Amino acid sequence: MKLSLLTAYLESLAPLNYQEDYDNSGLIVGHPDKEVHQALLSLDCTEAVVDEAIEKQCEVIISHHPIVFRGLKRFNGKTYVERVVEKAIKNNIAIYAIHTNLDNVTDGVNARICEMLELKNCRILSPKSGLLKKLVTYVPEAKAEQVRNALFHAGAGNIGDYSECSFNAEGTGTFKGGEDTNPYVGEPGKRHYENEIRIETVYPAAMESKLLMALFLAHPYEEVAYDLYNLTNQHQQVGSGMIGELEEEMSGEEFLFVIKQSMDAKVIRHTALTGKPVKRVAVCGGAGSFLLKHAISAGADFFVTADYKYHEFFDAEGKLVIADIGHFESEQFTVQLLYDIIQKKFANFAVRLTEINTNPVKYFI
Ligand SMILES: [Zn+2]
Repeated sequence: MKLSLLTAYLESLAPLNYQEDYDNSGLIVGHPDKEVHQALLSLDCTEAVVDEAIEKQCEVIISHHPIVFRGLKRFNGKTYVERVVEKAIKNNIAIYAIHTNLDNVTDGVNARICEMLELKNCRILSPKSGLLKKLVTYVPEAKAEQVRNALFHAGAGNIGDYSECSFNAEGTGTFKGGEDTNPYVGEPGKRHYENEIRIETVYPAAMESKLLMALFLAHPYEEVAYDLYNLTNQHQQVGSGMIGELEEEMSGEEFLFVIKQSMDAKVIRHTALTGKPVKRVAVCGGAGSFLLKHAISAGADFFVTADYKYHEFFDAEGKLVIADIGHFESEQFTVQLLYDIIQKKFANFAVRLTEINTNPVKYFI
């Protein structure tokens, strides 16, 4: 299939505008119209992974971490980043990254960690704002249901676990068509009064073009009147970290053991146990210290994450237990997550998991 078919699917689940500012998710190397038969999945895209892709005849590498974060100014093979890009281009291998946009969705990296820790009632720990918009449109009464259905079908009207949310108010619209118009009701050159319904509904900004297309197709007017508003509401399904609950309370010692087993952690660096039973657990794959305040205010007993620095551990202040399990360890199930996502949609497309352990951190125990 065309690479763009695969990436469009991935971006429908983890839209690129959900990524953090510092990130560089998306198609980094390769052309969207390239034909691909096999993909190689990896957490990191190292030179060894590119070699593996060549050997396994995979035309695209899908990695969680982007190989390129900042602009490259030289290509003389001095750094591993340059060498990876150079090798991929020379061997006609595409590189695609699905990083913080996959972290930030409810079925993403953190959801998989929650699953491994068997947490229930999981939700986003720090929902993002600025991702939702509102559409208002004015529709003749008889066509209101048709337009409403089209908007819902295109993905508008979802608030938390509720779908098909809209507000509808009756009113009178006026219009006067020019000489060359062919109005749905009324005559050109004459002001027309029409009973209309003002339909308003929220939608994720990322799907705006799809939504407008649906609106234009379903609305009977030649010129559709509509307004688009930016909202500052948080998007409950998009954001950093997750929080959930254990089925049964357990002691801090017991939960450390659970983490070690289920996350295959070689070592857990943690703050002093609080002595309180563990019920609510916050998680963040990769570096998560920026979420500590959210974990505390959400009442978490444990915060399972990675990349904690010495001084940052002090911030726990006995309110919860910070458990740093290692960056690679926290995200190791992401490759399987990507595999499951792709297989679900393209069952006949070959997806290979890397056999290379790309963790640059080794443990001397
Ligand atoms: Zn990471």
